[in-house]
Amino acid sequence: MERSFEPPQRILMGPGPSDVSPRVLAAMARPTIGHLDPAFVELMTEVKSLLQYAFRTKNQLTIPISGPGTAGMEACIANLVEPGDSVLVCVNGVFGGRMATMAERMGGVVHRIESPWGEPIDLAQLEDALKKHPKTKAIAFVHAETSTGARSDARGIASLAHRYGTLTIADTVTSLGGIPLEVDEWSLDAVYSGTQKCLSCTPGLSPVTISERALSAIRARTHPVVSWFLDFGLVMSYWGEGQKRTYHHTAPVNAIYALHEALLVLREEGLEKAWARHQLNHEAFRAGLAAMGLELLVHADHRLPQLNAVRIPADVEDAIVRRAMLYDFGIEIGGGLGDLTGKIWRIGLMGFASNPRNVYRCLSALAACMRSSKHVSTADEGLAAAKAVYVAASRA
Ligand SMILES: *Cc1c(COP(=O)(O)O)cnc(C)c1O
Repeated sequence: MERSFEPPQRILMGPGPSDVSPRVLAAMARPTIGHLDPAFVELMTEVKSLLQYAFRTKNQLTIPISGPGTAGMEACIANLVEPGDSVLVCVNGVFGGRMATMAERMGGVVHRIESPWGEPIDLAQLEDALKKHPKTKAIAFVHAETSTGARSDARGIASLAHRYGTLTIADTVTSLGGIPLEVDEWSLDAVYSGTQKCLSCTPGLSPVTISERALSAIRARTHPVVSWFLDFGLVMSYWGEGQKRTYHHTAPVNAIYALHEALLVLREEGLEKAWARHQLNHEAFRAGLAAMGLELLVHADHRLPQLNAVRIPADVEDAIVRRAMLYDFGIEIGGGLGDLTGKIWRIGLMGFASNPRNVYRCLSALAACMRSSKHVSTADEGLAAAKAVYVAASRA
């Protein structure tokens, strides 16, 4: 007989979703009201301005798309890419590959710029491609590649885009709230994110922000956007200012409560403080891993603090450790994707889950689950090394 679902207790330290703050869960459980209720309309206005804060932008079109990160990706690509448009897509992991496929489905002429997984996008290679394809309409790239743990130089890519007169489509699903992201200062054009990574909200919404330049390109389209649901022109008539709001779809009302609360949590902490917290917890975790004999996949210059790609020692069985982490310790970590399957774990320290307690817990659980490995030292060494990082930071 089916009964109410009681989820097991977990600590979410994978590539997302991350642990959701109890404040956000409480907000989500509040009574549903109508999506055209004046109180809800006011809430929508606040969500837009809180998103402008998180994205560091004044873009008017800054809203959550009703759908997961992938919906924001599809919205940005569907609105900017018309049949026959030339698009450069930077691919250094799973999500860049997904953007390329989508742009092709929209009829774009896609040129892939491939970098090895675990490395950032190569700017010299990108510039060569821009010279070779002077009619490029947009460069699509992933700021924080969650499949590998590599950070790309979003500012550098945007500045190349401006020099060559093209637009940028930026995936910031894992970067928003976790590492510096400056939409206006860097002049990014079509930017989408997700709620379940460093914002520590429930999955299912995709914040997007669109520059004036990108809006002009959308207005100049000669073909209608293939997706009715994701057409920014129509979405704006629903999320736009004032009394003129027209029905487009029913916003996921309670999910918007949750996002509002998650953004309040972020603003109360302060963006810069949130970035610094992610960095510090990453440094402590990294020091702990190193003391235990474990290495990271990505070079120090390009590491994401919120997503640690840890190399699995040769004598350790990936699936056994992940299962023990989950069932014995209640800690979810992620496996590798594609060629990295069985070679790395993806350990997230995202949003609400990025805290010292999780760093210590994860280090000791990992050591326990890998006791049989010749390559892994005891938890004591890892915990002491992590502790030393926190102590040094508190004295600084
Ligand atoms: C998680 C993620 C996505 C997809 O988000 P969903 O909410 O799963 O659709 C896209 N890009 C990156 C970089 C991600 O980490």
